[in-house]
Amino acid sequence: QDTFEHPDFYGIDDLLTEEHKMVRQAVRDFVKREISPYIEDWYEKNHFPYEIVRKFGELGVFGPTLPQEYGCGGMDYISYGLMMQEIERGDSGMRSTASVQGSLVMFPIYAFGSEEQKRKYLPKLAKGEMLGCFGLTEPDFGSNPAGMVSNFKDMGDYYLLNGSKMWISNSPKADIAVVWAKNEEGRIKGLIVERGMEGFSTPEIHGKWSLRASITGELVFDNVKVPKENLLPLADGLSAPLKCLDSARYGIAWGALGVAMDCYESARKYAMERIQFGKPIASFQLVQKKLAEMLTEITKAQLICWRLGTLKNEGKATTAQISLAKRNNIEIAMNIAREARQIHGGMGITNEYPIMRHMMNLESVVTYEGTHDIHLLILGNAITGIPAFK
Ligand code: FAD
Repeated sequence: QDTFEHPDFYGIDDLLTEEHKMVRQAVRDFVKREISPYIEDWYEKNHFPYEIVRKFGELGVFGPTLPQEYGCGGMDYISYGLMMQEIERGDSGMRSTASVQGSLVMFPIYAFGSEEQKRKYLPKLAKGEMLGCFGLTEPDFGSNPAGMVSNFKDMGDYYLLNGSKMWISNSPKADIAVVWAKNEEGRIKGLIVERGMEGFSTPEIHGKWSLRASITGELVFDNVKVPKENLLPLADGLSAPLKCLDSARYGIAWGALGVAMDCYESARKYAMERIQFGKPIASFQLVQKKLAEMLTEITKAQLICWRLGTLKNEGKATTAQISLAKRNNIEIAMNIAREARQIHGGMGITNEYPIMRHMMNLESVVTYEGTHDIHLLILGNAITGIPAFK
């Protein structure tokens, strides 16, 4: 069992049920066993451990909030959040794999798919027998997905899909891609594209200094014939992919908290053990200031996550509330990682400690699923009713 004592200064554990705590412990033990011993090596080698997909499936972290009748967990959003927290405490890239599969592939199939699509894909995705990816971003359309140029034409018996997607997590290994493209009327629709369809390729993107244990690629569609039954019948317009992103961003808010906790715990332990000027560096006021501020920010982020989780459970969480949580928690995690790096002195730059890896990972997390500034503008819009990003 992992003996990691997570910071819980305000007794937030008292707000959790026994099931929440069991779920958290199970994922924590898994991360300790299956991820932490290997992650620095995977990271250095830029290796995506494909076998983790099956193991995540067995653990039940793919789409855990979706109904059991499709082979999913039927759990609440606090359990889901705690899972993401624990996985990302291990590594943001591992959490990305889980987020994409659950929130960006299984969720749209569940929310916008036909009954046949749900029965065909969800149980396999839940078990990790199939890996999926989510294609929204294009080379020329990142923050502004409405401008996308990927498109499909109705050819009578099938749809003909053309275009490309960029920065797609899991894509080089994915069996299916949930792809957002415009129809002949310019409406954004969702299509399930399967590996092996002629004209469909998924080249890997190399040279990332962030999320190095997660695999990222492109999606290229060159006259791909997509069967008509692969259209998600209930997805119409940009609001459909944005709903998926709401679900993933909620998990990211919890995940960033996991990173912050890991950096804080590592720094706290190091500060207690490292002796300079004849005493532990934890006895110096400036180091205590860093630790105290870290704990303060972690506690605030925990309260945000917990409350947002209860709102999600009641179906009341808004996009702007999720933006606030994602934006805040990543920012505090980045600041905490940087301060923790300083507390570790020179050792902080090595892979003896997780800090630099977390720091580099957060550079992707702060950009994907809506950049830091775009989330600020979503909040600005919620406050003023004036969309400043257009
Ligand atoms: P741009 O949109 O070009 O933004 C560049 C800068 O301009 C940013 O700082 C941004 O905040 C700023 N900016 C843009 N517009 C405005 C504005 N109106 N006002 C103020 N500032 C603005 N996408 C997927 O679809 N699926 C995935 O699985 C996926 N995985 C990813 C994995 C990784 C590792 C990375 C790095 C990205 C991934 N993405 C994925 C893409 C990600 O969502 C985009 O990178 C992100 O939306 C930003 O788009 P961009 O990189 O094109 O930046």
